[in-house]
Amino acid sequence: MIVKYIAITGGVISGIGKGITAASIGAALQSYGLDVEVLKIDPYLNVDAGTMNPNQHGEVFVTDDGYEADLDLGHYERFLNRDMTKFNNITAGQIYSSVIQKERAGDYLGATVQMIPHVSNEIKARLARLKGDVILIEIGGTVGDIESEIFLEAVREFSMDVGRENFLFVHVTYIPYLKITNEFKTKPTQNSLQLLRRTGIVPDLIVLRSEEKLPESTIQKVALFGGVKIDSVFGLEDVSNIYSIPQKIHDEGMDGMIMHKLNITPSKSFEWHYPDFIRDVKIAMVGKYLATDDAYKSVLESVFLCGYKKPELIDAESLENLDQKHVRDKLGRYHGIIIPGGFGKRGIEGMINVIKYARENDVPLLGLCLGMQLMTIEYARNVAGLAGANSTEFDPQTPYPVIDLMEDQKRKMNLGGTMRLGSDEIKILSGSRLYEIYGKETVKERHRHRYEINLEDFKNIFKISSLDKSDKLFISATSKFAEAVELQNKKFFIGVQFHPEYRSKISSPHPIFLNFLKTCEKE
Ligand code: GLN
Repeated sequence: MIVKYIAITGGVISGIGKGITAASIGAALQSYGLDVEVLKIDPYLNVDAGTMNPNQHGEVFVTDDGYEADLDLGHYERFLNRDMTKFNNITAGQIYSSVIQKERAGDYLGATVQMIPHVSNEIKARLARLKGDVILIEIGGTVGDIESEIFLEAVREFSMDVGRENFLFVHVTYIPYLKITNEFKTKPTQNSLQLLRRTGIVPDLIVLRSEEKLPESTIQKVALFGGVKIDSVFGLEDVSNIYSIPQKIHDEGMDGMIMHKLNITPSKSFEWHYPDFIRDVKIAMVGKYLATDDAYKSVLESVFLCGYKKPELIDAESLENLDQKHVRDKLGRYHGIIIPGGFGKRGIEGMINVIKYARENDVPLLGLCLGMQLMTIEYARNVAGLAGANSTEFDPQTPYPVIDLMEDQKRKMNLGGTMRLGSDEIKILSGSRLYEIYGKETVKERHRHRYEINLEDFKNIFKISSLDKSDKLFISATSKFAEAVELQNKKFFIGVQFHPEYRSKISSPHPIFLNFLKTCEKE
């Protein structure tokens, strides 16, 4: 089969769900038996998303091969039910540094190195190495951004190289609603279509995102100004369950139109299953990145994919100086608590306060990475009697550094891409709660951290074998490092050094989340 390409551009504003729309188109096409490959293009100058603040840009998603990616790769993994790699993302930072390296190496043989053709060729080379029946290329940002211009140019050139008949341009744009006059406004979309046309790209399909269902007249107007037929403009209003979007895309005939335009004959018929019965169990997630809902995307989606309501985010800093009675006042109504990952000192005492509350009151608690480290600190301070125990990340002078920098991190100077990253094999200790959850002795999980449990100096406060019948904090999974802790006399008190949230998929919710939520449901 000739490889077909779908480029997805964004109009008007970012954050309208272009990634989810792209992932849903991919999922719909994949259900027809097509081999769908994805490339997310991020026009920012960062080499990867690893150094970006989740408060500004949303969570950093980590792939099996240890690549720190934009959170859209998480949507692709969850919707397409398969793992991504570093080849599924490019950033302007990667492209420019590669061009500059080549220039320094003399690879351009005396040429004046220019945006076109040198940078555009570098981008096209990355597009050309993707394999599949259908390649989805999602261009981050919105048309009109300076950063994305060269990517639009490269994609336009590439569409000519592979044959325009094998290429489809989908423009995902936003239609605001004006309450005061009770109408949907198409002007911003008209402008963004003009900006797009100025780059030489005429969209084949337009997807209109809006808060409410759009009237036919709005669709007509966009078709007219967009220069596309009305049957190629699709409205996609907000839905409460994003996993229903592939179904909606199918019901509206968008998948059929895409395949028609690309001359694709599917081998199977459309089929899509998603969680649509959502149990109302109240989970509090006590975190520190509160500026955007995207900061803990994978954790929220992991809970939802198990068929439960998403956790409510609670500001860890607001719990910092509270006594236990007040912590109970704030958290008493929740059936379970999650302490997610994070970096830096801000808010951690609030999280430790919450861990104490959960431990003393036997409230189900799941700690993820930072959460697991803080569970260890709380235990060291309040059960093992090591007052002032801490991580050297937060208190370099702590008398009891129960969490300390990993040995190989001590020599690393750069912050970008230098953590322990990606998938590693982990041994789950038999007799542990974690073993009951996984039902097997070895698993693979993804990591993203610099600090670890300091077992060398504090071995005696932990239980490290199931033969030990004490109630100590049990190191229930290991690799070269301590990978998980649990208190076995509690309903659910488990912390993991890894990130199970990065492995949740639509048809396979992660067993740790599932078990945690089932325990909470009994509360
Ligand atoms: N800050 C901690 C560390 O670097 C935890 C990281 C995380 O939660 N991803 O080890």
